Amino acid sequence: MSGIIEPILTMSAELSRLPGIGPKTAQRLAYFIASMPLEDVRSLSVALWEGRKAIRFCSVCGNYAAGEICAVCANQERHNGQICVVRDPRDVAAIERMHEYSGLYHVLHGTLSPMDGIGPDDIHIRELLSRLQTENVTEVILATNPDVEGEATASYLARLLKPLGVRCTRIAHGVPVGGDLEYTDEVTLLKAMEGRREV
Ligand SMILES: [Zn+2]
Repeated sequence: MSGIIEPILTMSAELSRLPGIGPKTAQRLAYFIASMPLEDVRSLSVALWEGRKAIRFCSVCGNYAAGEICAVCANQERHNGQICVVRDPRDVAAIERMHEYSGLYHVLHGTLSPMDGIGPDDIHIRELLSRLQTENVTEVILATNPDVEGEATASYLARLLKPLGVRCTRIAHGVPVGGDLEYTDEVTLLKAMEGRREV
């Protein structure tokens, strides 16, 4: 890396930690930032810093929130008895983009992965169980990704929840196997949600 000054290298190294940003792109962005007015760079970094600091987790569902509870939980019209269980807040955003689902969410913050030592106590399953006791839940929609961990998590939850008398459904395989909810287009995701089946 001859001829590249230390500050550019430092900026590139930080930028390359972002998803989808390889070393080349990181360096291109660093050079672009180097050409920006200092005040614009300050606005960018302040927006990231302040934005990140202001983001919390909803105390009910685990989704990202700007306050104590998220916008979905705060909306009384969404309390219709349905809880859609997803892996992380990005999946909530993907399902919200359909403008079709009108119930609540529960974010697990991970999926079961014995290989990585992630068991039921490491993700937000206990929180889901306590919601079943305090909220009027008629259906739990298992919308974890259709990959190995996502399927294992959905089966585990179905086995756990069904004896409690709650209806469990699994989203259909419109979502490609091994696919990621976040990158699934809205039509496919809508079909997957509509075609969900009892488990
Ligand atoms: Zn919430």
